[in-house]
Amino acid sequence: MTTKICQHCGHIGEPTSQGMGSFFVDVMIWMVFISFTLFSAFLPFLLIPLAWSIYHITTYKTITCPECENLEMVRINSHKGKLAMTRFHGQRPPSLHTTMPPPIAH
Ligand SMILES: [Zn+2]
Repeated sequence: MTTKICQHCGHIGEPTSQGMGSFFVDVMIWMVFISFTLFSAFLPFLLIPLAWSIYHITTYKTITCPECENLEMVRINSHKGKLAMTRFHGQRPPSLHTTMPPPIAH
């Protein structure tokens, strides 16, 4: 579990990323194109799902901010994260033992 801070809006929390479920789409695409290829014997058809899967794998690791969907989320204890923390929240990052922002005292 990694807490990250968005350099764009200052949101702190878990970034969203694509889940494994999205690979079901890849499987469906492959099945459709493989059946097309078997019927038509037109092998270059397979380049389409191949290109899609390569694109999907390269973007799989991509994380986005749940607030503004910006791609600029960084680790909160990294140099950029500390800069963003100071810029947006005017304080040092919270303890690494807690992944949530400090609760408001009553
Ligand atoms: Zn954001």
